[in-house]
Amino acid sequence: MTEDRKHEMRLKLHYKKIDESISKERELTNESYHLCANLQGNATRKSIITLVINAVLWSVLLTGLTTLLYSDTIQKPLIVSIAIVTPPMFFITKTIIKVIQNGTAARIEENKKDTQNQIDSMYASVFNRQNLYDFLGIPHDIIFDGNDFPIIQNDCTELNKYGRFTRYITQSGKKYHLHEGCSGAYNSVHAYSIAQNSFYTPCSKCIHHNDPIYVPDWYIYYLKTSKIVKEHDISVPLKI
Ligand SMILES: [Zn+2]
Repeated sequence: MTEDRKHEMRLKLHYKKIDESISKERELTNESYHLCANLQGNATRKSIITLVINAVLWSVLLTGLTTLLYSDTIQKPLIVSIAIVTPPMFFITKTIIKVIQNGTAARIEENKKDTQNQIDSMYASVFNRQNLYDFLGIPHDIIFDGNDFPIIQNDCTELNKYGRFTRYITQSGKKYHLHEGCSGAYNSVHAYSIAQNSFYTPCSKCIHHNDPIYVPDWYIYYLKTSKIVKEHDISVPLKI
């Protein structure tokens, strides 16, 4: 097997690992979401049951008290009973429900943290001690601008913002151009952003052959990876 072929296969394996990790992350996040929703549902049910049990218990107590205090008229003892019984009933019910809710919130928080840790360490092991350029097969003459667009060092000027990757568009037109000023197109855009946006088609005047801009795998995976690295705060060197 040639070195190139080996290199290509290694990259494919790395891309596969990244895709698998992304679906695993989705799976873990979904699981965690459902578990937390279940916990919350249980807590709500428990709270309602607590409320009902307390209401029944205290109603029985209230009736007992009223009967005990029963005199010729029922109004007065009933009002007294309600006055005595209602505050502690309210307080105790509220306390029990609060304990249930707090316990649930703690478990939900713990579960989210566990899931986060699991995902973080999964990604950390994928990118383990490798730099992104080698891991993703990014050509070493490529650098990334502030918007994560790849450019070639020393290939760009102030007018030619993305070097050989520069294309031009107008404010509202659907064509993209190779030559600045063709059909009034003066806004520089990166070729890869054109390729990822089906809105634009090549201008027939300045782009003579069909210009399918080929977005390389390493760029697609670079975008996926930089998003992961940012979101999960993974320390992975870009280059050696
Ligand atoms: Zn043109």
